Parts: sequence; C-alpha cells; structure tokens
Amino acid sequence: MSEPGADQAAIAADLLTWIRQNENLAPAWFLDDGSAAPELAGVGQMPTAEAPTAEASAPAAPTPRATAAAAAVAATVPESAEPAAGDPAFEAACAAFVAGTLALIDREGVPAGGTQPPDPLLAQHGGDKAAALAALGAEVLPCTKCALHATRQHTVFGAGSPDAEIVFIGEAPGQDEDLQGEPFVGRSGQLLTKILGAIGYAREDVYICNILKCRPPNNRDPLPAEVEQCEPHLRRQLAILRPRAICCLGRVAAQTLLGTDASLGKLRQSAHFYAGIPVTVTFHPAALLRNPAWKRDTWDDVRRLRALVDALRSRSAATDS
Ligand code: SF4
Repeated sequence: MSEPGADQAAIAADLLTWIRQNENLAPAWFLDDGSAAPELAGVGQMPTAEAPTAEASAPAAPTPRATAAAAAVAATVPESAEPAAGDPAFEAACAAFVAGTLALIDREGVPAGGTQPPDPLLAQHGGDKAAALAALGAEVLPCTKCALHATRQHTVFGAGSPDAEIVFIGEAPGQDEDLQGEPFVGRSGQLLTKILGAIGYAREDVYICNILKCRPPNNRDPLPAEVEQCEPHLRRQLAILRPRAICCLGRVAAQTLLGTDASLGKLRQSAHFYAGIPVTVTFHPAALLRNPAWKRDTWDDVRRLRALVDALRSRSAATDS
C-alpha cells in the first residue's frame, strides 16, 4: 500500500499536468499566452512542459484521478486573465509579420479596400454601405443558384458593421446558423465574440459571414460547384464593405477562399490576399471548443491580425493627412 503523501503528490502531479494542458476549459476564455502558469495554492510548482503546438492532436484526456480532483480545485483556476504583459519573442515575430505584409502590399501595389471596384449598389445608394448591403442581401436571400437552396431553412447572408475594418469568414452555415439565419451563433459564435473582445472589438464592430450562404447537408465541406456559384455573392459583399483585412476562420474556409491545399499551420504563418485584401488565417471557434489547447495559437493569430489592422489604419491616416 502506498504512502498517503505519495498518493497526494501523484494526484497533484496528474492534476497539474491536466490543468496545464486544458486550462482554457475554464468557464471564460483564458487568454494567457502560455507563459504565466496559474498559481494553485498548496500544490507546488507548475510543470514547465512545452505547450502543445497548433498541429498537435487534441489535448490529453484527464486521468481518472485528475478528473476526480479537478472539481475540488476548479475554483482556484482563474476564470479569466489578462494576457501576460510583455512578450518580447512574440512582439518581435508580430512586428516582422506586420512589416513583411506591408512590404508585400507595397511590392504588389495593392490598393486599400482591395483590387475590386466598388460594387455598383454603393453608387446606387449614394455611398451608404448599410443600404447597399441590405440591397445585396435582399438579392441573395432567394438565391437558387446551387442545390443547397433546396435543403436550407434560411439563407445566411452575413451580419455586422457595414464600416467594419475586418471581415471574418467561415466556410458555411451550420445547423444553428441555418435555423436562425445568422452567422456564427451557438457556442462557437459565443466563443468568437470572446475572441473579438480579447483584441478590443465588439461583435458589432466587425462583419461576419461565410463563403457559402446556405448550409451543406450534415455540415459537409463545400463542393467546388457550390463555391463557384456562391463566391460572387461574397465578392460583392467585400466590394461594398471594402475592409482593411479578412480573417479566415478554419482550414476549410482558408483553403477554399485562397484556392490552396496548404495546411492550416502553414497558412497561419503569413498573410495572403483575396480580391486584393490582406487575409490572415486562424482556427475555427468550433475547433477551439474541441481542442482548447489551440486557443494559445489563436491568441497569437488574432493579436497579429489586430497589429496588422492598426498598421494599415495608421498608414491610411498618414496618406490622407
Ligand atoms: S449556397 Fe449560395 S449559390 Fe447556393 S443557393 Fe445558397 S446563396 Fe445561392
């Protein structure tokens, strides 16, 4: 029979490992960058193991002992945390990402707002983006260009600010979105709202939509023929919105929009362009619900996105003045 002290130490070690791997399971979005371990009174030092990488598999399941003990100490895990102040390695990488993207924009001669001309609906509505978007939405809602119209409950056109600096784009509506006619509702939508809040945006500040406006049966990936029929709707949305940047949510959205089969891990590392608009890529919130350990990488992605948009705004203000 083992010593009670040894049992306690083993339980604490299991529990600390599990909490470290799964700290983002706390009730609120736990936005530390992985460098600041939460202090748990009376259970010693946190392990110093490397955080899982983006392409790692799902976090380890808790051991039975850790599961049993987790409830007892859950209250000691902070519900939310400010990101650790000062992270020289990330800041340097972020600055390089922004500088590299701006240099690419200069090299390619990409105009602000993208390479597409403003949509004619803008002129028809006197430059009123909200009115132009509403008019486009009214055109798209009854669309029957592909077979998905037959199985949809609602066409999910998009939602958010007509003056958004950033457009977030997913692949297609899911079940909740199809039922409600709104993009990114349900648990993944709530998580997206928290992610936006972490970089200083309310959900109403940005615009959110999908590549496909109707739900594919059983949430399967979009088919090329469906994308071909639906993509013009997205292009027209963007030609009205003319955002500073796009953020693709998830592998399928990124691969479909960018016409590539590169991995999500690769696509996340640099900026791309769609219709002349800079595009960054991060995880889909639904993937984060399944794999909370990926939140750390998402936090880096969205901070880079925010820094890029800040730089583009500053540059635009300097040009205008
Ligand atoms: S998915 Fe797009 S193209 Fe297909 S019916 Fe819906 S709106 Fe039209």
